[in-house]
Amino acid sequence: MTIDLSQYVQILVCPSCRSNLFIDKQSVVCRSAECRRKFLVKDDIPVMLADDAQTLSPDEWSALVANQASIAS
Ligand SMILES: [Zn+2]
Repeated sequence: MTIDLSQYVQILVCPSCRSNLFIDKQSVVCRSAECRRKFLVKDDIPVMLADDAQTLSPDEWSALVANQASIAS
């Protein structure tokens, strides 16, 4: 059985701040403007480890959120 990324995102939260997440291409990004962590996806499974996460700059994060909003609408 395969679970697609959008389903993971509905059940997972950020391990660092417990906010919801959204998908950006091959990564999963925290929705919290203070946290801004980006988790890689390996073999279709998000790597939800705070230690392996990259923290986006406020500008990078804002751009992804804006992009995500346009996809959802
Ligand atoms: Zn977070």
